Amino acid sequence: MTATIDIQRVKESRLAMLDFATLQFGKEFSDHMFVADCIDGVWQEPKIMPFGPLPSSPAQSALHYGQAIFEGMKAFRTADNQIQLFRPIDNFNRLNISAERMAMPPIPESIFMEGLLQLIKLDQAWVPAQEGYSLYIRPVYYATEEALGVRPSSSYRFVILTSPAGKYYADPVKVLVETEYTRASEGGMGYAKAAGNYGGSLHPTKMAKEKGYDQLIWMDAKEHRFAEESGTMNVMFVIDGKLVTPALSSSKLAGITRDSILKLAGSMNIPVEERNISVEELVAAHKAGHLQDAFGVGTAANLSPISLIGYEGKDYHLPPVAERAISNRLGDALNDIKYGNAADTFGWILKVN
Ligand SMILES: *Cc1c(COP(=O)(O)O)cnc(C)c1O
Repeated sequence: MTATIDIQRVKESRLAMLDFATLQFGKEFSDHMFVADCIDGVWQEPKIMPFGPLPSSPAQSALHYGQAIFEGMKAFRTADNQIQLFRPIDNFNRLNISAERMAMPPIPESIFMEGLLQLIKLDQAWVPAQEGYSLYIRPVYYATEEALGVRPSSSYRFVILTSPAGKYYADPVKVLVETEYTRASEGGMGYAKAAGNYGGSLHPTKMAKEKGYDQLIWMDAKEHRFAEESGTMNVMFVIDGKLVTPALSSSKLAGITRDSILKLAGSMNIPVEERNISVEELVAAHKAGHLQDAFGVGTAANLSPISLIGYEGKDYHLPPVAERAISNRLGDALNDIKYGNAADTFGWILKVN
């Protein structure tokens, strides 16, 4: 990897103004960002520059026709003060899967990985040290051509920005089974981390919040019966000692956390089932006392316990988090690898320094 990156440093770091004790998710941005443009299929020389506004035209096609995709990953500070990334190649690969779906040119691996590593090295002081904290990394890729007309843009911009982050959901979440609106359908673009998928989720989520829930469980678009995802996380259940999660399809985002949890469960001999899970099955399992756990999994929140599931005017309460042996074990094992407290037997970690 030999991409040369022109680095323009900030005159004065903003780090001294950051209060690590009160960090929320996604509110603060580190000193620098990485920027690379692709014009008529040719990647221009990438640069690292001070984080801030980039000039754009109101005619830029991402705003009109939605060629805009992103990724989410994290850098962790280990006990011995090393900075490490978790499965960044998987984020790179998924970004290009999203790019293909949106008719955007693939990003070369050298641009993604060199940009990422140099940016994190430069801003490594921004990686928090508190337990459960990390540096959230947001690659974003969007169409920049100044032209109207529904066709692929002739120019694109790839940016990586980073944001020191505390915990995402501090408390277990209340989720509502969404039976009217859907997030994505078979053959659609649900498997892409495309901006429009999230825009469409906001109104139904807002309505659920007005009813006192934190998040939705999306159902399939055809029958509105089978669980798909929970908010912006993949969803998992423990039914009668088995870890059960919806099988992947074109309407679901293939989470890297989901894959990691399933691999960890396999290594612990926890029985795993990837299949359709209907809401009737969940209700019946709850009635029989077999629904032992429900949780979301994703980079931002890691593993987020669900305290209750709302469906057709009833709330189905789940056992206290302290009693959830399987997900507690899995969440701890995943965190131990991310923070360097356990051996990385899966080859998931990339050290930055
Ligand atoms: C990002 C995302 C996930 C989780 O993916 P991770 O790779 O684990 O972070 C799940 N569902 C949706 C809709 C997402 O956008």
